Amino acid sequence: MKIYLDNNATTMVPPAVVDAMLPFFSDSYENASSICGMSAHVDAPIREAKAALAALCGSSEPECFFLTSGATEANNWAVIASTQACRDGARVITTAIEHPSVLEPISYLKSSGVDVVVSPVLSSGVIDCETLIQSVTPRTCLVSVMAANNETGVIQPVGLLARRVKEIAPDCIFHTDATQVVGKIPMFLDEDMDCVDLLSLSGHKFHGPKGIGALFARDPSRLPALLRGGGQQNDKRSGTLNTPGAAGLAAAARLAIVAISDDAVSQMRALRDSLEAEMFARLPGLSFIGADVARLPNTSQFLLPGVDAVAVVYALAQRGICVATGSACSAGAESPSHVLLAMGVPHEKAWSAMRVSLSRFETKQHLDIFADACVTAVNDASAVFDPE
Ligand code: PLP
Repeated sequence: MKIYLDNNATTMVPPAVVDAMLPFFSDSYENASSICGMSAHVDAPIREAKAALAALCGSSEPECFFLTSGATEANNWAVIASTQACRDGARVITTAIEHPSVLEPISYLKSSGVDVVVSPVLSSGVIDCETLIQSVTPRTCLVSVMAANNETGVIQPVGLLARRVKEIAPDCIFHTDATQVVGKIPMFLDEDMDCVDLLSLSGHKFHGPKGIGALFARDPSRLPALLRGGGQQNDKRSGTLNTPGAAGLAAAARLAIVAISDDAVSQMRALRDSLEAEMFARLPGLSFIGADVARLPNTSQFLLPGVDAVAVVYALAQRGICVATGSACSAGAESPSHVLLAMGVPHEKAWSAMRVSLSRFETKQHLDIFADACVTAVNDASAVFDPE
């Protein structure tokens, strides 16, 4: 039996999505940019993926979505885009809780002399908006703030922030890494997020295939090319188009639109909330991260009382139950989560963080099995650490 509760790391690809991809490996394998491919409509998945992403993200402009290999590429592209707009003395602002695929390229900019400000986060997990706004100057060329954190699930007020940033620096590019939000909650790029210029997303976080994602650019004329070559995707990102991936991305996006509008997402939230209530009843020392602020409906992060989460996660893995410690993307790293440390969680407590992230396909029965196994593993681990 496998119980998979690590859906912020990656998700299962359902049969309908696999089925949508299969023809593009076999019958319809022509190059989408060739005459044969275009006349056989092999390029249809590209158009469909962009249309489905636009619908999922609340945008009326499918042509503003550029397909990438995932969110790491989209985030790097967004940062590179800003460097073109950077004049001498320009400032780049990000936050301490971003994913490494934002922090690392920005740290590279810093090493090449760009003035970088890493803005702090409050103990709730919400970024300190006032401090960030105070650091914006008319010379700020990029502000990058994630839409929700992959470890805590805490949702950030990016629409509002983007608007305030533009009041001070109208030409500044506002980027958001929305990898954990897209496909989980409704998004409105044309409404409350209308000051967001660039947005990154990734298919495998919402039941699409790995290796495909997108960068949304509100004004593509301001987006410099990432890859030069055959001129695909309006010269912005050359390379033979990943038609099977695009077909899977389109199918996953369409399924996510339905799930968000019907009960699937609210059922997932109810399951998450009842799991938290049960865990708290059985392990009273447990403390939940981000419990008092807006959070993704699928994510629960908690600090286990007095135990090293790695031991518990290993014990659960041996029973076929998959959960995460800090960030799954940095699994194996030897320091505790940079996100928790930035929130002021003490070093020794940060080691006790466990993350459970559900999919909309999760069942109560699985969560009951997880809760029993987790309580046993925590008690076993406490016994090892407690000499009495
Ligand atoms: N941004 C966030 C917030 C993520 O959680 C992840 C992956 O965990 C990424 C970016 C990188 O996504 P990808 O695997 O598509 O490169």
